[in-house]
Amino acid sequence: MAARILSGNAIRDQIYAELAGEIASLGAAGVRPGLAAVLVGDNPASKLYVNSKIAACGKLGLASFMLTPPASITTDELLAVVDGLNRRDDVDGILVQMPLPPQVDAKKILDAVDPAKDVDGFHPINVGRLVAGRPNLVACTPAGVMEIFRRSNIPLESANAVVMGRSDIVGKPMALLLLHASATVTICHSKTRDMKDVSHRADIVVAAMGRAAMITPDYIRPGATVIDVGQNVITDKAEAERIFAKFPEKIEAFRAKGSVLVGDVHPEVVNVAGAFTPVPGGVGPLTIALLMSNTVKAARMRRGARVPAAVGGRS
Ligand code: NAP
Repeated sequence: MAARILSGNAIRDQIYAELAGEIASLGAAGVRPGLAAVLVGDNPASKLYVNSKIAACGKLGLASFMLTPPASITTDELLAVVDGLNRRDDVDGILVQMPLPPQVDAKKILDAVDPAKDVDGFHPINVGRLVAGRPNLVACTPAGVMEIFRRSNIPLESANAVVMGRSDIVGKPMALLLLHASATVTICHSKTRDMKDVSHRADIVVAAMGRAAMITPDYIRPGATVIDVGQNVITDKAEAERIFAKFPEKIEAFRAKGSVLVGDVHPEVVNVAGAFTPVPGGVGPLTIALLMSNTVKAARMRRGARVPAAVGGRS
């Protein structure tokens, strides 16, 4: 039986429709949630990410502010930028786009963001709340994956879930969210032995390693749910032809564009999985949707209003 496609685009649209109502009611109370994005230097990928976040704000009617300090900025100067945003009442959410230039102490910068405006969920206070099972602003990508599970009726209680990757922004918070949902969670990383065997026992696999098409069908138990967080741009023709040998339309797209996006999951996993997220159009759209949701939530929380249960029922 063909695997069920878990469409991130469709879930994003549901979330936006729900947020529109919340934004309208905040607007009626004279509140327009605002997101400030700090984009240091001119890394093209970072520019693309920030532009799509700002575009999402525009689509939903949120205020957005883009700050673009030069790549030569020092840690102290960037701390002053963050401090200015912490003090502004029209800014509910602050995101500092990573990576930062090497002379900037990224940890210091992230720690300086007011936890109440930390819509990326990276501040140690918000991480601690997540560990303690009292989350409020949670990292957007894993929170988006939880929306996929919830809205696609994929049961988590008692499920064996394997999270591949242990980064602070994806793997660790993902594992904690699954644990709080009563899954039995195993976290794999680059030093894990026999990852194929571990993965083969999973009802749910979340792949977030940044390794193009590494998870081949032999990692997956037939019928398992496979969430592909990876986003890898392939520019090598031979690699594209190898990965997409059975997907001629992707090879055509590569020829036309000179690059193709592939996840951490091999495209042929579609033949074994019970359900899977495509790349593109799977997890990616939800990361931005949850950023918007966190911004609206931060706007409410900062004003002492009841924390909305709206998007995802996350408290
Ligand atoms: P990261 O910080 O580089 O972390 C990668 C993790 O994967 C590390 O924990 C690493 O283990 C582990 N790993 C690397 N190679 C491995 C291997 N061969 N076997 C097992 N584990 C391995 O990456 P990240 O920021 O979490 O991002 C992961 C992927 O998700 C990337 O492709 C990124 O582009 C994508 N991403 C997508 C979105 C989205 O919106 N869709 C958002 C964020 C990230 P060690 O800890 O042992 O080094």
